Amino acid sequence: MPRYTEPLYRPPSEANSLIFQITEGCSYNKCAFCGMYTAKPFRVKPVADVIREVDDIPEEFAMKVHKVFLADGDAAVYPTEGLIKILEHMNMRFPEIRRYSSYCGPQAIMKKSMDEWKSLYDAGLQLLYFGLESGNREVLKLMNKGMDAFKVMPKIKQIKELGVQFSVMIILGGGGKKLKQAHIDDSAKWISEVNPDFLSFLTLFLRRKKDYFNNLEKPTMADILDETRGIIEKVDGRNIIFRSNHVSNFVPLSGRLSQDKSKLISQIEDTRKVMEHRGILNEYPDFYEEF
Ligand code: SF4
Repeated sequence: MPRYTEPLYRPPSEANSLIFQITEGCSYNKCAFCGMYTAKPFRVKPVADVIREVDDIPEEFAMKVHKVFLADGDAAVYPTEGLIKILEHMNMRFPEIRRYSSYCGPQAIMKKSMDEWKSLYDAGLQLLYFGLESGNREVLKLMNKGMDAFKVMPKIKQIKELGVQFSVMIILGGGGKKLKQAHIDDSAKWISEVNPDFLSFLTLFLRRKKDYFNNLEKPTMADILDETRGIIEKVDGRNIIFRSNHVSNFVPLSGRLSQDKSKLISQIEDTRKVMEHRGILNEYPDFYEEF
């Protein structure tokens, strides 16, 4: 069976997938807001070790595997030749497999050639979770994300044209009060141009990296609702599946963009009214305290 090194994270939508750690930690590990892998050094697991773990899976279980999520933080950075060997071996062991997915950072997007992306897609890597966090340059600089979203965009569009699906994440409140409008405008612009298959929102929450929080003019719940509404309103989407079902979101939303815009906006405004009625609209979310 797979051997896990904690902490282990996966997107909410991979709850029913078999998780395989082919890397440990995050190869970048420098985002100012992210404390996920602060205590976990980055490591690429040798191909032979991963293959041994795949072979350890009992036959009756292997026959029922439909989806595999490759962990950890940016597993798509795995050297392509080795990753293809791993995928080909998994394809042999999991005859019912439908897709592989992984988190993918801008470094891996840019570093691998289009030929490499094509080979990975052909071997089954068909869904990438991409933490855009924001389309805005200043917000990304503040976050120390190590990318300019609009410079990574053309490569993402090319990879998408191969058939690879993209699930893009945005962090509400990520730029604080000051950059709220710029965060809304540029994030919506980026999403409209790329038209990812999936879009999700997280809300900025405190996990170990206190400095980022301390240096930010913290957004209130009203600001978070403004960003939620602002981005949804401005995205010109073509059938994007949208979810905000992360534990950090206080308005659980789901629908298609742009088809369900008005339904989503009225849900946001209903939440605003409830918060106003309870007198908490201009307070900070609980998860600004560590959880
Ligand atoms: S947000 Fe993603 S890329 Fe940035 S440090 Fe965390 S895991 Fe790594």
